[in-house]
Amino acid sequence: MAESFASSSTQTGHSVRPPAAVPVSLRTLGCKVNQVESETIASSLLGMGCVLTAEDEARIVVVNSCTVTAEADRKVRKIVRHALQSRMAPVVVVTGCLAALDAEGITALGERVMVEPDSSRVGERVARLLGDVANVGGAAGADTGAGAVDIRPPAQTVFHTRAMVKVQDGCDAFCAYCVVPFARGVPRSVAIGDVIGRVRQLVRAGTREIVLTGINIGKYDDAPGGLAGLYRAVAETGIPRIRLSSIEPLDLDDELLAALSETPATCAHLHVPLQSGSDAVLRRMGRGYTAHEYEARVAAAREALPGLAVTTDVIAGLPGESVAEAAATRQFCEHIGFSKLHVFRYSARAGTVAAQMDGQVDPGERSRRARGLREVGLRLRDAALGAMVGAHAEVLVEETTVDDTVRRRRIGTTRDYARVEIERSEACAGDIVEVEIVGRGVDAELLGRAL
Ligand code: SF4
Repeated sequence: MAESFASSSTQTGHSVRPPAAVPVSLRTLGCKVNQVESETIASSLLGMGCVLTAEDEARIVVVNSCTVTAEADRKVRKIVRHALQSRMAPVVVVTGCLAALDAEGITALGERVMVEPDSSRVGERVARLLGDVANVGGAAGADTGAGAVDIRPPAQTVFHTRAMVKVQDGCDAFCAYCVVPFARGVPRSVAIGDVIGRVRQLVRAGTREIVLTGINIGKYDDAPGGLAGLYRAVAETGIPRIRLSSIEPLDLDDELLAALSETPATCAHLHVPLQSGSDAVLRRMGRGYTAHEYEARVAAAREALPGLAVTTDVIAGLPGESVAEAAATRQFCEHIGFSKLHVFRYSARAGTVAAQMDGQVDPGERSRRARGLREVGLRLRDAALGAMVGAHAEVLVEETTVDDTVRRRRIGTTRDYARVEIERSEACAGDIVEVEIVGRGVDAELLGRAL
C-alpha cells in the first residue's frame, strides 16, 4: 500500500505539517523496555501534532509488539485484526519484537498493515504516512545509527510519579528457550551522559522514582564499574527512589550490592529471574548458574539490603522437564520465599535451541505445571503481604481520586513493591507518605494509615 495520507494534506515540497491533530492510538505489549519505547513513540507523535486517542477513533494504530511467548504472538495478531475492523479503517503500524522477527507474517494480516521493526523510527514512519517528512526531524525520526540505543528523551516530558529509564538494549546470553536475542540484537548501552540527562529532566518534572530498565541491564558497560557505576551516578541526581527493573542472578555481584546498599534512594526490591529450581533444567536452559548459586546471590542481597523483597520469573514445562524437576522448582520457590512469581508456560520459539530439543512436554501438562507454580506464587504473595501488616512503610502516591469526599482514595507503591491504599489521606500524586500497614486492602493489596 502507498505510505501516505498526503492527499488529505496540502503538500508543499517536504515542509507540510500533518493535518492538525491526527488521531493516533498506541497499544503496548510486553516488557518494561517496550513501555519506555512506547513513551518515546508517544512523545514523537505528540510532537508531530497527533493526538493520542482510543482505537476506534484513530486513523493510525501503532502496536508495539512482543514475541516472548506464543501467547504474546497471538495477542499481537488479535490486536492488529481488531484494529483493522475499527470504524475509522486505520492504517496499523506494528513495531517491536514480533515485528522484528516476523515482518512477513504481520504484513500478511491485511493490506492496511505495515511493519516498522525499529521502534525509534515509528515517528518517521507515521510522519511519512501523514505526508510530512520534513516535520519529522529531532524528536520523531533521527537515525540513531547502527547499533546505537535510542535514548532520545521524549520531546514532551509528562509528569510521572514513577518513570522508567531505558539504559540498555539487547542480549547475547541465548538462553535455550529465549527468542529475545534474535529480536533485540547484541547488548548495547545507553551513554551514561544521556541516562543522567534523562534522569535530571525527570527530576525537574517532579518524578519521584525511576526504574532503570533494559533487556539485560547487567550488561551495562558505559560507566566505570558497569551497572554499579551507573547506579552511583544516577543516585547523585537526587532522585528520591531508584529501582532496578530486573537483574540476572550472576550480575547481582558484590560491587552492585555495595552500590545499592550505600544509596538511600534504593528501593528494597529486586526482580531476579530464576526460571527453574532444578540444576538439570537450568543446565539445559543454558542459564550458567545452579540453584545453590542463585540462592547464595539472593542471600547476599538480603544481607546487603534489609527487608528486601525478591520477585522472580519461572518457566513451566521446558522440553525434557520431568515431574520431579517441576516439583523441585515449586519447592525451591517456597524455600527462597519469593514475594511474587511471574509464571510463564513454556512455548517453543522458532530458532531457539529448546525448540529443537527432544521431550517436548505435552501442552496440557505444561499448563498444569504452570497452574501449580501460580498457586505457589499466590501463597507466597499472601504470606509476604501478611508479614507487612503492622509494619511501617514508605508509600509513593500514584493514584488519587478527587471527587469522592466520603472515602478519599490514595493508592501508591511501597519501596518493596506492594500496592497500598492510604486511608483518609489528603496526599497528592507524587507525595511520599509514611504509613502504618493496618490490614489487607480492597482496591489495593494493603491498607495503610498515614503516620
Ligand atoms: Fe533471554 Fe536469557 Fe537474554 Fe534474558 S538473559 S533476554 S532470558 S537470552
